[in-house]
Amino acid sequence: MQELLSINGKFLGIDWHFWKVVGWAGNLVFSARFVVQWYATEKRKEVTVPQAFWWLSLVGSLLLLSYALFWEKSSVFIFAYAFTWIPYMRNLVIHRRQKAAKKTCPQCGNRSLAAANFCSHCGTALPEQGGV
Ligand SMILES: [Zn+2]
Repeated sequence: MQELLSINGKFLGIDWHFWKVVGWAGNLVFSARFVVQWYATEKRKEVTVPQAFWWLSLVGSLLLLSYALFWEKSSVFIFAYAFTWIPYMRNLVIHRRQKAAKKTCPQCGNRSLAAANFCSHCGTALPEQGGV
Protein backbone atom coordinates (compact mmCIF):
# COMPACT_ATOMS: atom_id res chain seq x y z
CA MET A 1 0.00 0.00 0.00
CA GLN A 2 2.79 2.40 0.90
CA GLU A 3 4.44 1.74 -2.49
CA LEU A 4 1.15 2.61 -4.24
CA LEU A 5 0.83 5.97 -2.46
CA SER A 6 4.52 6.90 -2.61
CA ILE A 7 6.02 7.73 -5.99
CA ASN A 8 9.67 8.86 -6.01
CA GLY A 9 9.42 9.25 -2.23
CA LYS A 10 6.47 11.68 -2.50
CA PHE A 11 2.86 11.02 -1.47
CA LEU A 12 1.02 10.33 -4.77
CA GLY A 13 4.12 11.68 -6.53
CA ILE A 14 3.09 15.26 -5.67
CA ASP A 15 5.59 17.87 -4.48
CA TRP A 16 3.57 18.92 -1.38
CA HIS A 17 3.63 22.45 0.06
CA PHE A 18 1.02 24.87 1.48
CA TRP A 19 -0.49 25.96 -1.86
CA LYS A 20 -0.59 22.38 -3.18
CA VAL A 21 -2.66 21.44 -0.10
CA VAL A 22 -4.97 24.44 -0.76
CA GLY A 23 -5.30 23.50 -4.45
CA TRP A 24 -5.97 19.81 -3.78
CA ALA A 25 -8.41 20.66 -0.98
CA GLY A 26 -10.21 22.84 -3.55
CA ASN A 27 -10.28 19.94 -6.00
CA LEU A 28 -11.68 17.55 -3.39
CA VAL A 29 -14.34 19.99 -2.14
CA PHE A 30 -15.33 20.98 -5.70
CA SER A 31 -15.57 17.31 -6.77
CA ALA A 32 -17.56 16.36 -3.65
CA ARG A 33 -20.45 18.52 -4.89
CA PHE A 34 -21.17 15.99 -7.66
CA VAL A 35 -21.43 13.15 -5.14
CA VAL A 36 -23.75 15.25 -2.93
CA GLN A 37 -25.96 16.21 -5.91
CA TRP A 38 -26.08 12.64 -7.21
CA TYR A 39 -26.98 11.28 -3.76
CA ALA A 40 -29.76 13.89 -3.32
CA THR A 41 -31.16 13.07 -6.77
CA GLU A 42 -31.11 9.30 -6.16
CA LYS A 43 -32.72 9.74 -2.74
CA ARG A 44 -35.63 11.84 -4.09
CA LYS A 45 -35.79 10.03 -7.45
CA GLU A 46 -35.87 13.41 -9.22
CA VAL A 47 -33.16 15.84 -10.29
CA THR A 48 -32.32 17.76 -7.12
CA VAL A 49 -29.67 20.39 -6.41
CA PRO A 50 -29.29 20.60 -2.62
CA GLN A 51 -28.02 23.72 -0.85
CA ALA A 52 -24.82 21.81 0.04
CA PHE A 53 -24.02 21.65 -3.70
CA TRP A 54 -23.75 25.46 -3.85
CA TRP A 55 -21.71 25.66 -0.63
CA LEU A 56 -19.26 23.04 -1.94
CA SER A 57 -19.12 24.88 -5.29
CA LEU A 58 -18.41 28.19 -3.55
CA VAL A 59 -15.76 26.91 -1.13
CA GLY A 60 -14.09 24.67 -3.74
CA SER A 61 -13.91 27.40 -6.37
CA LEU A 62 -12.54 29.96 -3.87
CA LEU A 63 -9.82 27.50 -2.80
CA LEU A 64 -8.96 26.85 -6.46
CA LEU A 65 -9.00 30.60 -7.18
CA SER A 66 -6.59 31.16 -4.26
CA TYR A 67 -4.29 28.47 -5.62
CA ALA A 68 -4.47 30.00 -9.12
CA LEU A 69 -3.83 33.55 -7.83
CA PHE A 70 -1.06 32.90 -5.31
CA TRP A 71 0.74 29.85 -6.68
CA GLU A 72 -0.06 28.96 -10.28
CA LYS A 73 -0.38 32.60 -11.40
CA SER A 74 -1.91 31.40 -14.66
CA SER A 75 -4.29 33.88 -16.32
CA VAL A 76 -6.31 31.01 -17.84
CA PHE A 77 -6.71 29.28 -14.48
CA ILE A 78 -7.49 32.57 -12.66
CA PHE A 79 -10.15 33.53 -15.21
CA ALA A 80 -11.74 30.05 -14.96
CA TYR A 81 -12.56 30.64 -11.26
CA ALA A 82 -12.65 34.47 -11.04
CA PHE A 83 -16.42 34.87 -11.46
CA THR A 84 -17.94 31.47 -10.64
CA TRP A 85 -18.65 32.58 -7.04
CA ILE A 86 -21.31 35.03 -8.33
CA PRO A 87 -23.91 32.42 -9.44
CA TYR A 88 -23.04 30.23 -6.42
CA MET A 89 -23.77 33.12 -4.04
CA ARG A 90 -26.93 34.02 -5.95
CA ASN A 91 -28.18 30.41 -5.84
CA LEU A 92 -27.52 30.26 -2.09
CA VAL A 93 -29.60 33.43 -1.59
CA ILE A 94 -32.44 32.08 -3.77
CA HIS A 95 -32.26 28.71 -1.98
CA ARG A 96 -32.61 30.46 1.38
CA ARG A 97 -35.59 32.50 0.19
CA GLN A 98 -37.32 29.44 -1.28
CA LYS A 99 -36.79 27.47 1.90
CA ALA A 100 -38.20 30.29 4.01
CA ALA A 101 -41.27 30.55 1.75
CA LYS A 102 -42.17 26.83 1.92
CA LYS A 103 -44.59 25.17 4.31
CA THR A 104 -43.68 22.07 6.30
CA CYS A 105 -46.29 19.29 6.51
CA PRO A 106 -47.18 18.66 10.18
CA GLN A 107 -47.82 14.98 9.34
CA CYS A 108 -44.81 13.86 7.25
CA GLY A 109 -42.40 16.83 7.25
CA ASN A 110 -42.53 17.23 3.46
CA ARG A 111 -41.83 20.78 2.25
CA SER A 112 -44.49 22.22 -0.06
CA LEU A 113 -44.78 25.50 -1.96
CA ALA A 114 -46.04 28.46 0.09
CA ALA A 115 -49.23 28.61 -2.04
CA ALA A 116 -50.09 24.92 -1.46
CA ASN A 117 -53.14 24.06 0.67
CA PHE A 118 -52.39 20.33 0.97
CA CYS A 119 -49.18 18.30 1.31
CA SER A 120 -48.11 16.89 -2.07
CA HIS A 121 -46.72 13.80 -0.31
CA CYS A 122 -49.49 12.69 2.11
CA GLY A 123 -52.44 15.04 1.39
CA THR A 124 -52.63 16.55 4.89
CA ALA A 125 -54.09 20.08 5.03
CA LEU A 126 -51.28 22.62 5.43
CA PRO A 127 -51.39 25.58 7.82
CA GLU A 128 -52.44 28.93 6.29
CA GLN A 129 -49.24 30.91 6.98
CA GLY A 130 -45.59 29.98 7.54
CA GLY A 131 -44.77 26.48 8.70
CA VAL A 132 -44.46 24.26 11.75
ZN1 LIG B 1 -47.33 15.37 4.37
